[in-house]
Amino acid sequence: MSDEPAPTSKDFIREIIDEDLASGKHDGTVTRFPPEPNGYLHLGHAKSICLNFGIAQEYGGRCHLRFDDTNPTKEDVEYVDSIKEDIKWLGFDWGEHLYFASDYFEKLYDWAVYLIKEGKAYVDQQTAAEIKSGRGDLQTPGINSPYRDRPVEESLDLFQRMKAGEFGDGVMVLRAKVDMAHANLNLRDPVLYRIVHAEHHRTGDKWCIYPMYDYTHGQSDAIEHITHSLCTLEFENHRALYDWFLDNIPVPSRPRQIEFSRLNLNYTVMSKRKLLQLVTEKHVSGWDDPRMPTLSGIRRRGYPAAAIRNFCKTIGITKFESTNDFALLENAVREVLNQEAPRFMAVLDPIRVVITNYPEGQVEEMEAVNNPEKPEAGTRLVPFSREIFIERDDFMEDPPKKFFRLSPGAEVRLRSAYFLRCDEVIKDAAGNIVELRGSYDPETRGGENPPDGRKVKATIHWVSAAHAVEAEVRLYDRLFASEAPDRGEGSFLDHLNPDSLTVLSGARLEPNLASVVSGETVQFERLGYFCADKDGSQERPVFNRTVGLRDSWAKAQNQG
Ligand code: ATP
Ligand code: MG
Repeated sequence: MSDEPAPTSKDFIREIIDEDLASGKHDGTVTRFPPEPNGYLHLGHAKSICLNFGIAQEYGGRCHLRFDDTNPTKEDVEYVDSIKEDIKWLGFDWGEHLYFASDYFEKLYDWAVYLIKEGKAYVDQQTAAEIKSGRGDLQTPGINSPYRDRPVEESLDLFQRMKAGEFGDGVMVLRAKVDMAHANLNLRDPVLYRIVHAEHHRTGDKWCIYPMYDYTHGQSDAIEHITHSLCTLEFENHRALYDWFLDNIPVPSRPRQIEFSRLNLNYTVMSKRKLLQLVTEKHVSGWDDPRMPTLSGIRRRGYPAAAIRNFCKTIGITKFESTNDFALLENAVREVLNQEAPRFMAVLDPIRVVITNYPEGQVEEMEAVNNPEKPEAGTRLVPFSREIFIERDDFMEDPPKKFFRLSPGAEVRLRSAYFLRCDEVIKDAAGNIVELRGSYDPETRGGENPPDGRKVKATIHWVSAAHAVEAEVRLYDRLFASEAPDRGEGSFLDHLNPDSLTVLSGARLEPNLASVVSGETVQFERLGYFCADKDGSQERPVFNRTVGLRDSWAKAQNQG
């Protein structure tokens, strides 16, 4: 990763860490990435992963992967596995520091008992609706629960019986006794435990009471001796509650929480709940649909991990809410792929050209450069023969003045092969062009200019018809047609782009492309970057368009 851009200046979080190390408050950093395993990771998570694991790398510290798995009904091992895979793919490693909040259930329970004994927690038998209305709002202070001052012994007894499974879901909860008139609503006697008779993906049916996220998260950090507990801004007004727990429970360390702004991107949604809805309602083919902003989706789309890391460095870490342009991410993708992706020729919308002066049955192996940005990538051989395919829109029968590609009587260079002139246009009864006839100049082998000094203005790509491999190519566009699908009227689903997927079933590829392995991204010359998909085979490859060579989308918008 040494060739990635260095951060230009330190962000405010790294400055705080520098101070903490300089003052001797800490002698190293321990950070963590704490996903809830209730969905696949998305690009927003990548920002947090790059921050937390990045700090560990830069400061020689460590970064834990901890699953905050307090919600048995929404969580699943499928999510745990995909999250691990995505973090590794991004290029990070938690080493032996893999943890689960559910590993701390026993300890959290003991601490809840401790709080009850200290007179700082009580079992509340109000209904959920009563608890909600009793909490008040920003203008109105809350009112105390009638159970708030019940004897410690009674709460202890009920809490133990909650754990033993004596009561049904929602019959009672354990609440912290803080302050029902507190200006911060999070401190108005928050719920610590609820009854949920549900199997947990790790603890099975051992528990039927589960700690709330707010009661779990900060103490889990403390148990793991996290030094800097980095989270997004929506947790800012939970910090006072987390601090209250740290002050009132005998925790082994005191992490410092620092909030930063979330990653938001236009033309997409980035909440797991909405992404899950797209999947379950089959608006996309799955969590790894290449249009999804999930890490598994963009991986399948062909985005390189290095591009995501570079993008996260470019946008930096601040406390300001903002929305980043998807085009910025796509540029980061192009920058990496331009350096890395091997070039090949593929024709997406083929039209046949018969080269009438080329000997029947002859095949030449033309030498083509694999990557002009990387001479060490060498060359490959591409078969050339009498019948080839070119891109339908590289030909025009009545070209406008500035059209330099193929037209009747005009000459172009076939990349790495020969000059080709179009002599004849063959049409069917309906007047559609079905084939072109042309002639090549044997003196231009390899695409060299001929001895007579004749020049052409355009070079086009081609594949030999007899050798071409037929393939399916999937062209993707933005999943949503509007810039802020979350923030418009109605449902975000109303903003789905109906043209986000176009499937081309008759593309023709140069034969070398048949051996590109699934997950590898290549450049189709003049067309863009394409990633081999797992749905394909050697006989019939499937390619996903990763991104075009240029930001054609911005252009289209300006014209529109
Ligand atoms: P979502 O809102 O998509 O459901 P979440 O915050 O509920 O996400 P978690 O699994 O709790 O998902 O997130 C794990 C970590 O990733 C948290 O520390 C969270 O702050 C961070 N994170 C989530 N979304 C973003 C984002 N858009 N930008 C930066 N960090 C994020
Ligand atoms: Mg969350």
